[in-house]
Amino acid sequence: MHLSTNIHLTCDRCLTEFQKPVAEKFEILFHIGTRDFETDEEDVVMLSPEENEIELDRFIEEQLVLAVPMKALCREDCKGLCPVCGVNLNVQSCNCPKETLDPRWQKLKELL
Ligand SMILES: [Zn+2]
Ligand SMILES: [Zn+2]
Repeated sequence: MHLSTNIHLTCDRCLTEFQKPVAEKFEILFHIGTRDFETDEEDVVMLSPEENEIELDRFIEEQLVLAVPMKALCREDCKGLCPVCGVNLNVQSCNCPKETLDPRWQKLKELL
């Protein structure tokens, strides 16, 4: 079974919402019939003959949860937000100092 969809994620770095296409291929085996069917397969779904509706949504949901990455980034080289002014550095740059001056250097400056 092929599943392709877009999932909505929020980037961990810049908090931008983005869509990630997910294409998953998975197999679900259905066994319709007697309950005493023996199998080592864990993915076999037992169905009684009276059940004429398979809850596919549930399986698809499970697969989607597995497909969602632990760390969501809108792109590999996402620059994130400026810790000083909060600007999205992917969209625009800012003039904030990237590193606070080392206090030792500050002292030196005073001496000079
Ligand atoms: Zn991002
Ligand atoms: Zn900034």
